Amino acid sequence: MSQYWSDIVHELTPYVPGEQPKLNKLIKLNTNENPYGPSPRVLAAIQQATNQDLRKYPDPNAGALKATIAQYHGVQPDWVFVGNSSDEVLAHTFRALLKHAKPLLFPDITYSFYPVYCGLFDIAYQEVPLRDDFTLNIDDYHQDNGGIIFANPNAPTGINLGLDAIRALLQRNRYSVVVVDEAYVDFGGKSATALVNEFPNLLVIQTLSKSRGLAGLRVGFAIGDPALIRGLERVKNSFHPYALSALALAGAKAAFEDDVYFEQMRDRVIRTRTQSVDALQTLGFKVLPSAANFVFATHPEYSAKTMFEALRARNIIVRYFDRPRLKDFLRISIGTDQEMSVLIEALSEITKKP
Ligand SMILES: *Cc1c(COP(=O)(O)O)cnc(C)c1O
Repeated sequence: MSQYWSDIVHELTPYVPGEQPKLNKLIKLNTNENPYGPSPRVLAAIQQATNQDLRKYPDPNAGALKATIAQYHGVQPDWVFVGNSSDEVLAHTFRALLKHAKPLLFPDITYSFYPVYCGLFDIAYQEVPLRDDFTLNIDDYHQDNGGIIFANPNAPTGINLGLDAIRALLQRNRYSVVVVDEAYVDFGGKSATALVNEFPNLLVIQTLSKSRGLAGLRVGFAIGDPALIRGLERVKNSFHPYALSALALAGAKAAFEDDVYFEQMRDRVIRTRTQSVDALQTLGFKVLPSAANFVFATHPEYSAKTMFEALRARNIIVRYFDRPRLKDFLRISIGTDQEMSVLIEALSEITKKP
């Protein structure tokens, strides 16, 4: 607390990211990073960009990157917005498109940054409980609102909502913006970008942090009707016109130009996920169906918190949320096959009866 703070700073409840310890020999399965990292072509492009003129400002419109993303997703470039991480794209979206008199709706269990942005931008919101099995019921969103946002696949559950349900939700919600946060879509969901032509109030947000192994580069983007994109550009150009560095622009563009690498790494993560789910179930865990690069698992006999601490003591970090409805679960990011076998080995010791 400080007398120098503005009123809003006194009232903020900031987001708490998963920890990034500097220890070596740590098995880090807590922030859904990709164990494989980006394509070698990304590194070459970044290297080349560092050899060029860093003295100059980068392209404020990110034209080359937008054109590449547009082509990849089969839209025109004016349907694309890029930002310095999808967290930043989300921030601009909350300000530009989701702040209205009526409350913004989102699930009670979802990306925990949404209520944080509502606090920062003074946006009224209402949490809509997921069903007991953590699935989203679109009927619960059939009410007056100033906007709707959800992550799909959802975090931290990994559960995916099908495109038919999203289309049905959009068909009866024409007057406010619907945002689908697709941070994990490449690992098993179907992208709602397929619906942007049909619904001018649909904005789809993706990131290069998870499926493209570039969490350190900080690049995210949105796809939607040009009117929505122009709203985002107005906020961005009132805040940080050169949002993406020259290195980020070059690396992100190269990431979309190496499909073969992308698909191989994605498939590897999906294979490891399937094996990990089997192994966890063999140990007695109940695992929610995951379409993401993490699993959300609970054990009927062992407390999640105790397991979290026991794993930590063995230099394995996973994510534990000490919150109602979540406190019996561990969220485990999918690492390499080797990391996952160390995890499974540790859990099998931890869950062995004394
Ligand atoms: C990781 C994540 C983000 C943030 O991604 P960045 O681009 O790294 O900021 C956004 N939404 C969800 C649901 C995420 O899990």
